[in-house]
Amino acid sequence: MKVIVASEAGFCYGVKRATKAAFEAAASAAGPVYTLGELIHNPQVVARLEEVGVRAARDVADVGAATVIIRSHGLPPAAVEALTAQGARVLDLTCPTVKAVQQRAGALAAEGYKVIIVGDRDHPEVEAIAGCAGPAAIIVNSEEEAAAVPCADKIGVVMQTTHMAAACLRIVAALLDKAPEVRIFNTLCDATARSQKAALRLAAEVDVMVVVGGRNSANTGRLAEICRASGAETHHVETASELRAEWLEGVAAVGVTAGTSTPDWLIEEVVAKLSAWSAESDDVARRRRTRSHN
Ligand code: SF4
Repeated sequence: MKVIVASEAGFCYGVKRATKAAFEAAASAAGPVYTLGELIHNPQVVARLEEVGVRAARDVADVGAATVIIRSHGLPPAAVEALTAQGARVLDLTCPTVKAVQQRAGALAAEGYKVIIVGDRDHPEVEAIAGCAGPAAIIVNSEEEAAAVPCADKIGVVMQTTHMAAACLRIVAALLDKAPEVRIFNTLCDATARSQKAALRLAAEVDVMVVVGGRNSANTGRLAEICRASGAETHHVETASELRAEWLEGVAAVGVTAGTSTPDWLIEEVVAKLSAWSAESDDVARRRRTRSHN
C-alpha cells in the first residue's frame, strides 16, 4: 500500500508564524502569556501551548497587564488600545495578509468609501477588519444581504481572506448596482484554495483519503467535504490514534492531507502509523506469495 501526502498540506504561513512565536513567547516571558481566544483551531496544539503556560482568555479584561498574543485573525483597534491602556505587553501576530486587508479597509473608509466586508460577521478576522473600517462599514454574507445594502456614492469591497471565491463572486455581483463607483479588492488568501486543489488531485489518485485536523477547524472540515464529494472514501481524524486498520483493507494507495491549522508533527504521526501498517500488509502479502510458489 502506498501512502501519499498532498503537495500542500498543513500549516499555512500565517498560522505557522503565530504558533512558532507563541512557543517562543512562552519560553521567554517573565509572567503569564495569554491568547485572546484559542490561538488556532487545533486542540492538540492548544493543549501543548497550555502545557508551556500559554492560556486562552475570553476577554481583554481577563488578561490584566500580562503578555497577550494577537492571533493570526487580528484584533479590532479598540481592543488593542484597551490592552495597551491596561498595561498589557501586546505581541501582534496578525497574519500579514490579514493586516493588509485591515489597512485596505481603513484606507477606503478614510477616502470616503462605504466599506463592505464580505464574510462571516461572527468570525474574529471579520470583526477585526470591521473595527478598522469605521462605524459605517457593513458586513454581508449572502446575495440577499448584498441586495439590502443601501445605495451610496462610492463603495469599497474587501473580503474575509478564507471566504469561498464562488460565494464572493455572487455577493460582489449583487453589489454592483449600489453605487456609480464600486471598487472591489480581491483579498482572498490562496493558502486554503491551494490545499483544496492539492487534496482534490490526490483524492483522484488514491482509494482512501485521510484528512488530519481539529474537528473545530472549518477549513479542515471543508477539505474532508471536498474529498468526500469527489468520490474518495474519506476519514477525518484529529490524531493517529483515531486511524482504523479496517479502512485500509484491500487498499492500494491512501492519501493524507491536513487543514491549515494542523501542525507537521500531527501529520507525521498519521503518516508514520499508516506507513507501518503498509509495511506489515506488504510483508504479509509477500509471505503469502512465497508460500503459494513453494
Ligand atoms: S489562511 Fe492565509 S490569511 Fe489566513 S492565516 Fe493563513 S496565510 Fe494568513
